[in-house]
Amino acid sequence: MASLITKPAQRRRRFHMLTVTRIQHLCDEAVAVSFAVPSELAAEYLFEPGQHVTLRATVDGQDVRRSYSICLSRAEALARSELRIAAARVGGGLLSNWINDNLAAGDRIEVMTPLGEFVCATQPEAVRHHVAIVAGSGITPVMSLFSTALAEEPGSRVTLIFGNRKTSSMMFRQELEDLKVQYPDRFHLINVLSQEAADVELLSGRLDRERLERILVDLVPAQNVDEWYLCGPTGLVQTARGLLVDLGVHSCHVHYEVFDVEEAAD
Ligand SMILES: Cc1cc2nc3c(=O)[nH]c(=O)nc-3n(C[C@H](O)[C@H](O)[C@H](O)COP(=O)(O)OP(=O)(O)OC[C@H]3O[C@@H](n4cnc5c(N)ncnc54)[C@H](O)[C@@H]3O)c2cc1C
Repeated sequence: MASLITKPAQRRRRFHMLTVTRIQHLCDEAVAVSFAVPSELAAEYLFEPGQHVTLRATVDGQDVRRSYSICLSRAEALARSELRIAAARVGGGLLSNWINDNLAAGDRIEVMTPLGEFVCATQPEAVRHHVAIVAGSGITPVMSLFSTALAEEPGSRVTLIFGNRKTSSMMFRQELEDLKVQYPDRFHLINVLSQEAADVELLSGRLDRERLERILVDLVPAQNVDEWYLCGPTGLVQTARGLLVDLGVHSCHVHYEVFDVEEAAD
């Protein structure tokens, strides 16, 4: 009997040529790219939610390799035999702009097998509160982590604190709205917009330490949180880590990933 492999095995990282099946326009500044995973490579592209792949392309005559996080749930990836990543434009950046401007369905591109430690294994029986603090493209791995946690941990809930400049620069806006409809009691979205007025003063402005502290005190008390996920530019991740330490959160419950480009979310 054929067995369904759902966990990645330890393996050597390798590039393979994958075919782009779909480009989705996510917002003003980002696209999602889906790749077909042929059945003979399915085991190699199994991933843990939160992991990333390296894309390799020749841009302006240069051999460019950059990391992009996987942004769909494990179940969706298996059901569609696909991987999906999302790339936000970085001013003057080589690969992010090339992906946004040039990549099209039918193209083939080198994609390395998944890797990364920004993961937290799901526990089907667990009753946990997962909270993410992200800005800009830092949402990408959290799309995979949270959609998987909601599907695989029916007793758990998730809260996403998401900083962006304005609504039009929010990645995955529609998919986040869909998750709210699908999981009205288990998915809570807190949008913080730095360049657009919000009804609530607390949610309008830069996601700095002072605002983050007020959000945690007023809306997401740290003592009610089991696992934390921080992702985005260095400044935000450092600020949030420092705040969580000061609030007494043990570091073993704080998972973080820095996207090494300092892409301002405000
Ligand atoms: C683990 C991980 C996961 C990631 N996941 C994602 C993701 O899911 N989505 C996403 O959008 N991004 C993600 N990133 C960021 C991504 O890997 C790239 O760094 C990003 O897309 C920028 O790449 P680029 O080639 O466009 O920019 P680059 O060409 O690397 O340029 C980046 C910046 O540096 C400047 N620059 C370039 N060369 C020089 C130079 N010689 N001197 C001075 N300045 C220079 C550019 O002007 C630009 O502002 C991730 C990063 C990591 C480490």
